[in-house]
Amino acid sequence: MTVEKQMAELKLRLREISDLEGAGAVLAWDQSTYMPPGGVKARGRQMATLTRLAHEKLIDPAVGKLLDDLRPYEESLPYDSNDASLIRVTRRDFERAIHVPPSLQAEIWQHGAESHQVWLAARPDNDFSAVAPYLEKTIAYSVQLADCFPGYNHPADPLIDMSDEGMTAAAISDLFQELRQELVPLVQAISAQAPPEDAFLYESYLPQEQLDFGLRIAKDYGYDMKRGRQDLAGHPFMIAFSPDDVRITTRVDSNNLNDALFSTLHETGHGLYEQGVAHELEGTPLAGGTSSGVHESQSRLWENLIGRSYELWSHYYPDLQAQFPAQLRAVPLEAFYRAINKVEPSLIRTEADEVTYNLHVMIRFDLELALLEGRLKVKDLPEAWHARYEHDLGLHAPSDVDGVLQDIHWFWGLVGGAFQGYTLGNIMAGAFFDAALKDNPQIPEQVAQADFAPLLAWMHDNIYQYGRKFTPDELVQRVTGGPLSIEPYMRYLRQKYGRLYGLELFSS
Ligand code: ZN
Repeated sequence: MTVEKQMAELKLRLREISDLEGAGAVLAWDQSTYMPPGGVKARGRQMATLTRLAHEKLIDPAVGKLLDDLRPYEESLPYDSNDASLIRVTRRDFERAIHVPPSLQAEIWQHGAESHQVWLAARPDNDFSAVAPYLEKTIAYSVQLADCFPGYNHPADPLIDMSDEGMTAAAISDLFQELRQELVPLVQAISAQAPPEDAFLYESYLPQEQLDFGLRIAKDYGYDMKRGRQDLAGHPFMIAFSPDDVRITTRVDSNNLNDALFSTLHETGHGLYEQGVAHELEGTPLAGGTSSGVHESQSRLWENLIGRSYELWSHYYPDLQAQFPAQLRAVPLEAFYRAINKVEPSLIRTEADEVTYNLHVMIRFDLELALLEGRLKVKDLPEAWHARYEHDLGLHAPSDVDGVLQDIHWFWGLVGGAFQGYTLGNIMAGAFFDAALKDNPQIPEQVAQADFAPLLAWMHDNIYQYGRKFTPDELVQRVTGGPLSIEPYMRYLRQKYGRLYGLELFSS
């Protein structure tokens, strides 16, 4: 077979896998938006069938043979060419997939579904003991899965690699340790100041008007409604069926102006990334975001660095006031800006502000490593959780519902690999935005004119178009010229919050 025929054969096979995954994504989107509760059982089966078919097609020995045969062709091409990248990334996916026995994968899925049901029932009763045996099994499965990949240094490494490829527990621990040392004094300095008044954000706001305002900014950002749509969901998410059908969801609370607005801008950031993937990558494993961290860098950038910026609200706030005169007429722009950027140590990760959020993630990351190493036993987990919250945030949760039971992650998938992406995303958002500002120092003034096209074009040229071609480390190196550094992100936080809270120490 000629190289052309081999490439065509590989692409045909990958397109079928992509179609099965796309169909599965439609089912998942529907399940979280419009499906009646009665559909849950059949839907679980339908999604499992599509996942299994896609997996079987990927681990087909014919795919392995094509990848072997195409190696000389791959090596003859530039590293970042479409074909070389496609062969390289497919090989990594293939090798990862063949390492895991389908029976183990199925057991983990089955256990995850049961564990999730038990967690849902245990939460209202604040009953950690009900989930504890399931969590022990989840940890055992996580280690068993890690053991499918030979040669790791830490059992979390293969699990981290699945969502943040190439990163390791050791490298992330070092980065997080560095960040903690900078963040903790910043949080302490902020906590010593009087908190800004923000009660007006929790008055009554008409849901439809909130949704319209959020979507207006999303469209101004460049989210293309001809290739996207927005629906309501209990837990907002973004999902892509192809670069031309990228959907976002949000939720709305009539007594919380933050909720719909910023979850819309967050998911829009994810959506802009997926809509920006080059069309020639469609139907291949390259058509998607690089990693959970890089994806989160985009949601955080458009939600926080842009969406909670003074510049943006200098443009939109008069219109927001006009939309909600009873609630906001007497609130000046500066007061609104301070309120949407209020920093306050809290117990719940998903409600945390930009500064304290990372402390929540690091607590989970450290506990995950301890659980996987066996240093921490499940029975001691609730107390370990409380101890870390007291130490890092100065708070003690009144119950495990506001403690170890709050996040779904450990009670659905695996223990390990799920949390680091959030904080990596924040760090990367700072690093990427810093690089964008170096190339185009006019971005803040452009944002103040609601002219987002130059920033979007920069992100597109440097990040979005490449899809999954590069690993996160490769992408960071290409975009910022060096390894991932916390410095730009910390500089951003110090400048913004130094000014907001009048902290002399940090205002330089
Ligand atoms: Zn996100």
